[in-house]
Amino acid sequence: MSVIVANLGFPRIGPRRELKTALEAFWSGKTSEADLLETAAALRAATWARQKALGVEVIPSNDFSLYDQVLDTSVTVGAIPAIYRPLGAADSLAVYFAMARGTQTGVAEEGCSHGHGAHTDVPAQEMTKWFDTNYHYMVPEVTANQNFALTSTKAIDQFKEAKALGYHTRPVILGPVTWLLLAKAKDAAFDPLTLLPALLPVYSELLSRLRDAGADWVQIDEPALVLDLDARAREAFATAYRHFADTVGGLKLMLATYFGALGDNLDTALALPVAGLHVDLVRAPEQLDAVVARARPDLLLSLGVVDGRNVWKADLGALLNRLEPVAGQFQKLQIAPSCSLLHTPIDLALETKLDAQVASWLAFGAQKLEELALLGKALNGGRAAVADALVANAYAIADRRASPLVNNPAVRTRLAGIDAGWARRETPFAERIKAQQAVLNLPPLPTTTIGSFPQTAEVRKARAAHGKGVLDQAGYDAFLREETERAIRWQEEIDIDVLVHGEFERNDMVQYFGEQLAGFAFTRAAWVQSYGSRCVRPPIIYGDVSRPQPMTVAWWRYAQSLTDRPVKGMLTGPVTILQWSFVRDDQPRSDTCRQIALAIRDEVVDLEAAGAKIIQIDEAALREGLPLRRADWQHYLDWAVESFRITASGVRPETQIHTHMCYSEFNDIIESIGAMDADVISIETSRSKMELLDAFVTYKYPNEIGPGVYDIHSPRIPATREMEELLLKAGERLSAGQLWVNPDCGLKTRKWEDVKPALVNMVDAAKAARAAL
Ligand code: GLN
Ligand code: ZN
Repeated sequence: MSVIVANLGFPRIGPRRELKTALEAFWSGKTSEADLLETAAALRAATWARQKALGVEVIPSNDFSLYDQVLDTSVTVGAIPAIYRPLGAADSLAVYFAMARGTQTGVAEEGCSHGHGAHTDVPAQEMTKWFDTNYHYMVPEVTANQNFALTSTKAIDQFKEAKALGYHTRPVILGPVTWLLLAKAKDAAFDPLTLLPALLPVYSELLSRLRDAGADWVQIDEPALVLDLDARAREAFATAYRHFADTVGGLKLMLATYFGALGDNLDTALALPVAGLHVDLVRAPEQLDAVVARARPDLLLSLGVVDGRNVWKADLGALLNRLEPVAGQFQKLQIAPSCSLLHTPIDLALETKLDAQVASWLAFGAQKLEELALLGKALNGGRAAVADALVANAYAIADRRASPLVNNPAVRTRLAGIDAGWARRETPFAERIKAQQAVLNLPPLPTTTIGSFPQTAEVRKARAAHGKGVLDQAGYDAFLREETERAIRWQEEIDIDVLVHGEFERNDMVQYFGEQLAGFAFTRAAWVQSYGSRCVRPPIIYGDVSRPQPMTVAWWRYAQSLTDRPVKGMLTGPVTILQWSFVRDDQPRSDTCRQIALAIRDEVVDLEAAGAKIIQIDEAALREGLPLRRADWQHYLDWAVESFRITASGVRPETQIHTHMCYSEFNDIIESIGAMDADVISIETSRSKMELLDAFVTYKYPNEIGPGVYDIHSPRIPATREMEELLLKAGERLSAGQLWVNPDCGLKTRKWEDVKPALVNMVDAAKAARAAL
């Protein structure tokens, strides 16, 4: 019996975000292509060396990407839409980055707070979230008569590059079926899977060339195998892998599945003529027995036992208990992270300021590989060979479990004491809205914004100076008060009905709250790639969550003191805070979410007590939290909606609760949106020309709704007439009495020079529509 330590992929951004720096310098014209490529090669070399030093025996190559591995695949197979072709050679960086980011005459700008770039000239390809991660990939585009051709030799080149440095690697490529299932048909409505026969020869050519370059194994990622698949998709898997078995000799494929259980696709996966199969035993530990029982005896299993999606130390003792009996049954076995380590930060050693005890419970990418190496040694040579390390690990696991930092009995008792009444407003909407109208006295089609105003260079400079201690608290507060006052005055001047304070004091809609809640830790360098050069540093929720003191009340009170118009209290909802954090793995997500819900509820109640008449609880991430499998949706939606309702239900009927959701489709979750029972919901609709409203119409959504009329992803200033037409369109679908007027999302990424005229036009449009509707 021999157990081999394998890795499926390592973060490519670099421990100090070297790739981000290099990319952005190149994009801004400060460095050359050669400079960029040199940095990239150095990062790859360092990553290979590091994995080798950590004891990884199967080291991946081609997991590196200058932007995105799905985009790499699209270029590799020649799926380059015609608009990009004139920009350069098919495998040039000009074409590659145009697909990734568009070509720009203006500056690169971020759209939504957590959203997408806005571009001019040639637009970028669409971007969306990779399965249920917070990583974004570039959506492949195909046409009905799509031609495929091997267009980039990146995978081969990087294999050879590693080989020249002395590493015999296992190249990683994204599999053809997953790639097609992610692809969008651009010119006509057809099923991209019908392109499979045309695509397969290109893959065969790529595989053959990898073999000719010396590869004996290739890791081929097919995470789509953990999704609900129809017969046609299952057949595509059979066809594709039969084709490879028939056309490519002398090469072994490690078919990698991750992010969930194979479930009803297990037979499909096990029937494929591949030499190896990787399964995710972190998300789906229960599938081990079935896989072991049903796998062909000659199939090399790769067991994903260390969590590639989270930051916690693995419980090595428990894993050994599980793996030892299995390892005995096989000649050879691989152990690996559950998925590529792309989704974890790189190195815990860089966290010098983290609480030492919390840090002792964590493992980032490099530490996870160490854990695998330890497991490998224990499985091959017996636990005694690594006894000290196992003791240390067991100590950390036990310490975390018992720590008062993690366990707060007050939070537990409180949570145990809540009943259905906590998730229900006192009176139904129809009565509440009358009480609210009596208090608020708003015109029909009231105007408002989503919360944030431009985070200008001055705002960011002041925050940075405050962070470095150059600007003291009093100076920073004075600066923020001035910004807030200017925003309030200006909103009054242009006649907005419901004002916002502008969120100038917030860095990020999750971090701002996480920094003030108990149970959260913040890192200094634990960056994770979100897309391209963009990285996020999610907070780590390590313990029971509570709110030691009010978080937003002082700023709200100050803003409201400046005006007679209502100023919205502005909060991030529990599901969104959960989704954009690293969460505990020692209790269900739903429990953590309910704890956050109670903490935010406390804030809602305090805002009301301070006099807030309207409180907005943003749930931008509600939809993206949906599980990968349909069968799991309802359970998730139930606790997510319940959490929102817990947050919203502590207030009197006349206090108006708003929520906001961007980049969502609502059709298949509309009942849950209805069940949230927010008095007002604002949604992103301007680009869809109000089509996203249809779900609300069909459902006969009774509460109030603000369909976005201003596309905040673009610097373009929408004309009054344009927004009025959108409102009239909305008025055809919903009753005018239900409608609010607002932009699609917050305005933090825009410039005042765009925002000002756009909002003036928006108010004019509302006035015109009031007269017309
Ligand atoms: N209130 C937040 C803002 O305006 C909402 C952002 C979001 O939903 N992405 O920035
Ligand atoms: Zn939004």
